[in-house]
Amino acid sequence: MPKIARRVQPFGTTIFTEINQLASQYNAINMGQGKPDFDGPNEIIEVFMNALQSGQYNQYAPAKGIPEFRQGLVKHAGRYNLDVDVEHGVMVTPGATEAIFAAVMGLVDAGDEVIIIQPFFDSYAPSVLMAGATPVYISLHAPDWTFDEAELRKAFNPKTRAIIINTPHNPTGKVFTLNELTLIADLAKEFDVTVISDEVYEHLIYHPAQHIPIASLPDMFERTVTIGSAGKTFGMTGWKLGWLYGHPELIRGVWQAHQFIVFATNHPTQVAVAHAFNHFDDSYYATYRALYTAKRQRTLDGLTQAGIRFAEPMGTYFVMADFSAVFDGNDTEFAKYLIQEIGVAAIPPSAFYQESDKHLAKNYARFSFAKHD
Ligand code: PMP
Ligand code: GLN
Repeated sequence: MPKIARRVQPFGTTIFTEINQLASQYNAINMGQGKPDFDGPNEIIEVFMNALQSGQYNQYAPAKGIPEFRQGLVKHAGRYNLDVDVEHGVMVTPGATEAIFAAVMGLVDAGDEVIIIQPFFDSYAPSVLMAGATPVYISLHAPDWTFDEAELRKAFNPKTRAIIINTPHNPTGKVFTLNELTLIADLAKEFDVTVISDEVYEHLIYHPAQHIPIASLPDMFERTVTIGSAGKTFGMTGWKLGWLYGHPELIRGVWQAHQFIVFATNHPTQVAVAHAFNHFDDSYYATYRALYTAKRQRTLDGLTQAGIRFAEPMGTYFVMADFSAVFDGNDTEFAKYLIQEIGVAAIPPSAFYQESDKHLAKNYARFSFAKHD
């Protein structure tokens, strides 16, 4: 009997699939997966439909992205004063997930170490492991999700090839400060490390937090690839359209991997997202933030009424809720109880920690407020 490969044997099923299945079995309100239950802007749905019917966009797109998309993305990066090369510094990808995978494959060698900050988005470690590299974990510490400077420094050594950071941060809602990013940047420069910066929630920030791309710090552009997603920025997770930009030499590495993973990316979606980049002004992003500011408040009020504690998320559409005052059990038990007895699904965040640190999440549930009121 043929066997599956050793590299994928330990992975198991993603927590999102597990919780979705349980939620639908019990008909629970699903505040688990970060998946809006409403559409993004109608204007780009129309552009998408017109693109489908125009007869021009139903075959392979140029592999690095259609020119309007790349130009739109460069304009968008200009919001942070980043000077991105439209020909060689940008790539479209089928979602941020593939951008992360291709970045690791294209920029990290087997045997290298890659620093991952836990709790982490669940695709990081499998991407590193599939590249034959070794994840090295450091933790954000509850209740306010700060990291320890000494612990961070200890994770860096001559074998460190890359660090994956995520700001605004899933699942904690933390927005990394200039001071924190500077500490990471200084170590990356000292140890000549590449930064893979997952900024898919860049526009989901709450007053007074500010999103700072680490690539905008001094001498960091040349060692950073920045990743984004239309799933988050334009509220269309089903479109699976993402991107990546950075110094042309780094993008060349990612491209070398990406061309043999997917080659080209969905064509009509690029037309629609290019339209958003090129035609939406600040009012789009302000409205988007206002929508989620209200949803966040509603969720935090509900949690407070239920006697559940949390550090207020300053970004993303997630909150890490400490249920220890109201439930005696671990995060997996709480998630099951909540689905089966109360009819609400949340993610048990131990899924976002390495095996030996799963206890750090035992009092928490991650709720997503990307849901209608
Ligand atoms: N990174 C983070 C932190 C996320 O929360 C998500 C959401 N799925 C992704 C990457 C993946 O984005 P995409 O759906 O565009 O692949
Ligand atoms: N980013 C979303 C979340 O964290 C969805 C991830 C996924 O389905 N892979 O919930």
